[in-house]
Parts: sequence; structure tokens; C-alpha cells
Amino acid sequence: MAVKARRQAVVADVGGVKVGGNHPIVVQSMTNTDTCDVPATVNQVMALARAGSELVRITVNTEQAAAAVPKIVETLDKFGVRVPIIGDFHYNGHILLKKYPDCARALAKYRINPGNANIGRKTDENFRTMIEVAIENNRPVRIGVNWGSLDQALLTRMMDENSRLPEPKEAREVMMDAIVVSAVDSAKAAESHGMAHDKIILSAKVSGVQDLIDVYRALADACDYPLHLGLTEAGMGNKGIVATTAALAPLLQEGIGDTIRTSLTPAPNGDRTEEVIVSQQILQSLGIRSFTPQVTACPGCGRTTSTFFQEMADEIQTYLRNQMPQWKQTNPGVETMKVAVMGCIVNGPGESKHSNIGISLPGTFEEPKAPVYVDGRLMTTLKGNQIVSEFIGILNDYVSSHYAG
Ligand code: SF4
Repeated sequence: MAVKARRQAVVADVGGVKVGGNHPIVVQSMTNTDTCDVPATVNQVMALARAGSELVRITVNTEQAAAAVPKIVETLDKFGVRVPIIGDFHYNGHILLKKYPDCARALAKYRINPGNANIGRKTDENFRTMIEVAIENNRPVRIGVNWGSLDQALLTRMMDENSRLPEPKEAREVMMDAIVVSAVDSAKAAESHGMAHDKIILSAKVSGVQDLIDVYRALADACDYPLHLGLTEAGMGNKGIVATTAALAPLLQEGIGDTIRTSLTPAPNGDRTEEVIVSQQILQSLGIRSFTPQVTACPGCGRTTSTFFQEMADEIQTYLRNQMPQWKQTNPGVETMKVAVMGCIVNGPGESKHSNIGISLPGTFEEPKAPVYVDGRLMTTLKGNQIVSEFIGILNDYVSSHYAG
């Protein structure tokens, strides 16, 4: 089944990156450094950008953080890192954006959470101030509803209205409806304050997989703004990766989602760039975008003599990923290359033939040799201790001859 055409017609420009319409789905990420710590934040933004994050969000929660933002953007600029930086605001965004105009100018987009920017209260002055600063600086905003900080006045009103219905909906359903209404009404409020229609991106994040799917389907039906898609608080490790994939895949398949983030909780001292790689892998596995050559490796079984082929698959995948920043410049198209690393001859040659390059290592009781297939044909058979380096040599030759810039 093919991926359906994208649903949201509006295109927003975030610091030169187009989000929405038929533009490629954008991968974004968020730092977890203290924004006041300029070197640490710059280093993490650079790592995220190098890993392929096309937008990076940073927390702007205090006056010191707001004062640090222009320094962060300037330093990134000096290092030649041009990734647009998004400011994440809660509660005091209206004060910080007004008091620190250099911060407002340095940021490419402001994320506003309507649940804590007084939308729905007697006056929405704080929200309006943020929108006015965005208009002054010609910046787009993301109106990001999160069920953990949903506009309580709106939710109470909708719950009350529901209770008066002859057949009231379940509380969960009303909550999902309220999330969508909060996002759409906040966007309308922003437009009533003068914000252009194509300067608004919406998100409505929840932490349950089925809830997220329901909410985004409803949101996509209710508006044409570009949608930022992500499962909030996805969790750690495998749980976070699987839950995010389970939630995002059906929506992306239906053409919903114009920019995505994987909200993984990193292990202590873990690598923040993992969230970028997971987002890329979701898009690449669905055949929506290509970021890095893919290695098909068999899981191994009782026929394999050792973990050698697993180590080889890992070494080759790491090598390909590390080469990508350079290859992206010199060898366009290489990200679509397919490489197979298989544990024995049962499926090895077959899988290899379906890849651009494939190798099958010898399994138990097989002759100690590794046939290499290039474009479906047996090219050579490797033997001895240098199989990995010789195979990487073949890969390099293939890249130079097939993806020349
Ligand atoms: S290709 Fe060979 S080693 Fe790999 S899983 Fe299949 S039978 Fe086992």
C-alpha cells in the first residue's frame, strides 16, 4: 500500500525550511541542556544538526535563557551551522519575548502552549503579546497543545456541555475533542490578532498511541495548517522507540504529519542524537524519505558460527552513517543505497541480489568464504581476516562510481 498524499495544504517557512504541503517531512529535535549554558547548548545543537535534525528546539524559560539565545545562534553561525532554532515558551513567553528583542529576532519560530498562555481566560493578553512579537519579527509560531497542560477552562466547559447531552460521550472522547478544539481555536485567536494563516503550525500531543492517532486524524480533518507530529513523553529505550513508531507510522501512512519529533528519554549520559536517528528511520522504513544507506541484516540463527556477521553488520551501518555528512555533499543519492549483510547462504545470496551490494558470510559447515554481489551479480568472493575492510573498499568504489556529484 502506498503512502497517501499529504493532507495539510498550507506551507509555513521556518528559517528557510518549508513545512507542509508537498515539502519533505521535516525531522526536528529538542536539546536537553540548560539553555543558559551556551557552550553545552551549542555543542548539542551541532550534534543534533550533524545527525540530520533540520530544526532544533531549545527551552527558553528564564531571563538568563532568553539572554543566551542570541549568543547560541551567533556561535552556531560562526561554526557554519545554520539549523533554524525554535524557542520553547511556557508561562512567561510574553515577558521574555518583549524584554529580550534580540532573543525574539534570533529564533526562527516560537512554540506557544495555549494551555499556559492564558488562552480561554478572561483576557488572552499574554498569548496576544507573543503573537504580536511574532508578527513584528515575521516569525511563524507553533501552537502546541499538550494534554498534560490542556486549557482547563475549555475542558471544564466541554465536559459540562457533554454531561447535558441526552447520550454523553465518554470522558476520554471529550478530552480528545477538547485537545483539537484548543489547537484550532487558538489558531483562530492568533489570526484574529493579525497572524497570517501560513505562519501557524499546530500540534496536539498526547502520550497514548491510540489517543494520538485519534487526535491527529481529527486535527487533520479540522484544519489545513501544517502539523507537527510526535508522541509526547514516549519514554526510554525500546518502549519509547516502539511506541513512537506505532503512533507515527499509521498517521504518516495516511499523509498526516509535516514535521516529526521522537520524544525519547535518553539513558543517563545517553546520546541525544538517538531521537533524530529514530525519526529518520521511521520515515525511511516507510519509504517516505531516505537519509542514509540501509543495511539489511539477517537476525542470525543456529547456522551462524559466531557473532562475526552481527559485528560486521553493525560496523558497516556505523561506517555508512559516519560517511553520510561527507557523502551528502559529494555523492548525492547515496542515501538510497541498499546493503545486505547476511549470516549464511540460505537467504544470503537471494537478499544480496535484491540489494545494491550484499555479502553472505559463511555459516556452520559452509566453506570459509563470503560471496559479494554487486547489482545482483556475483562480483567476488572474499576470504581471510580482512573481509570487513575489503568489503568497505568495495562499498567505497561503488559509491564513487554510482553516486558521483
Ligand atoms: S540467512 Fe542463514 S544465518 Fe541468517 S537467519 Fe537465515 S538461515 Fe540463519
